Amino acid sequence: MTGALTERQEFLEGGLTELVCERCAAVVRVRKSSPQQTSVQWSTAAVRQCATDLGALVPTCPGLRASIDRAVRAGRLDVP
Ligand SMILES: [Zn+2]
Repeated sequence: MTGALTERQEFLEGGLTELVCERCAAVVRVRKSSPQQTSVQWSTAAVRQCATDLGALVPTCPGLRASIDRAVRAGRLDVP
């Protein structure tokens, strides 16, 4: 399920913003609850495509973290 990539799509529910991992091109939904705190909503496809540690409770990808930082700096991700 890799649909066309949209620029940015905001979800009213929970204020989640769709973000593409620059390393793996996986699409996740991200929400900053504070400058330090980031919530990432993973789809099953994104976990398979992007997460580097499939056994972890919380999926992680170094590329995604960098992508989130970049999105914040570029103002593409709302930070309260
Ligand atoms: Zn990734």
